[in-house]
Amino acid sequence: MAGKERGNAAQYTTIKVRLCPTPAQSELFEKTFGCCRYLWNQMLSDERRFYLETGVHFIPTPAKYKNGAPFLKEVDNQALIQEHNRLSQAFRMFFKDPGTFHYPRFKRKKDDRDSFTACNHVFQSGPTIYTTRDGIRMTKAGIVKAKFSRRPQAWWKLKRVTISKTRTGKYYCSILYECGDRPPEAVIPKAETTVGLKYSVRHFWVTDGGETADPPRWLKQSGEKLAELQRKLSRMEPGSKNYQEAVRKYRLLHEHIANQRRDFLHKQSRRIANDWDAVCMRKDALQALNGVAGENLGYRMFRELLHYKLERQGKPLILLDRYTPTTRTCSACGHLREDVSYRDNLWTCPKCGAVHDREVNAARNIKDQGLTQYFQQQRASA
Ligand SMILES: [Zn+2]
Repeated sequence: MAGKERGNAAQYTTIKVRLCPTPAQSELFEKTFGCCRYLWNQMLSDERRFYLETGVHFIPTPAKYKNGAPFLKEVDNQALIQEHNRLSQAFRMFFKDPGTFHYPRFKRKKDDRDSFTACNHVFQSGPTIYTTRDGIRMTKAGIVKAKFSRRPQAWWKLKRVTISKTRTGKYYCSILYECGDRPPEAVIPKAETTVGLKYSVRHFWVTDGGETADPPRWLKQSGEKLAELQRKLSRMEPGSKNYQEAVRKYRLLHEHIANQRRDFLHKQSRRIANDWDAVCMRKDALQALNGVAGENLGYRMFRELLHYKLERQGKPLILLDRYTPTTRTCSACGHLREDVSYRDNLWTCPKCGAVHDREVNAARNIKDQGLTQYFQQQRASA
């Protein structure tokens, strides 16, 4: 019962950061402040007029104003929606308790502080608002540089941001986080529940048990179709009607492939994160495969998705150091091969005679060495 109650009560915390926008970004902020004030006043006067005429309380949505005031289209729509929510809330409070809450007032530039609020929306492709090492990514402004005095915890959820400007012209951002959820209990990996993953150009990944991801054929086919369209484009007259039509087709296909790929990566990472308690990988696999098929399939995104999905369950992603020789080491006896030929997929250990599949052998070493590294670090930090 207590657990249930705790689960229902969301806890929030705010981090306030100083923003250092570019001139273009501060211009956009100014525009947004103005649009929000304008919209608030329009909605308020329309609600009053509507009430006098009909006796019904009604606030038109921001979309209703966009044709008459096209400049509203230039700013973050979320900020406008938030203005509508705030005005509705102000009316609700007033009707509920007119003694305590005053009737909503018009906003004036000289009395009201410049500010706007935008909510974060988390889509499959990721959140609309997030923090980076030294900035905050927002919908219309892109990444705005920011100075953090403290950092959010990994499990906090970013709910919304409020951008404001002081009288002295400084910009600040209040970031609201939901932090009620405790981090999940840390899972201690065991050899039986840990998997070693080796990146593979052919199979996307290979596990120490010999399982592979095998990217679906349609992904390759769409890639070929895209290349064909690209070749066609290069032969056409730029600016012609046919050219524009081909560009449109190209963009659509490009977007389609991006969606397919994202879907594939989500499925792959979910499968691994659910099946295993810990995952070992090599840190340098990304650099090594840059530019070839690996990049097309999105290894980087795969690793990020996997990390996030494991973290949510308290499971570790163990990254092996860059120069660990995993391909040349025999996973049966530890013998280190001298030759570094990457051509042969099967090789026989000259010392113990074990026959290895090159990638499965590497995945085994990644797992063994990953677990050793993990427990060494645990002992060191204990
Ligand atoms: Zn051996």
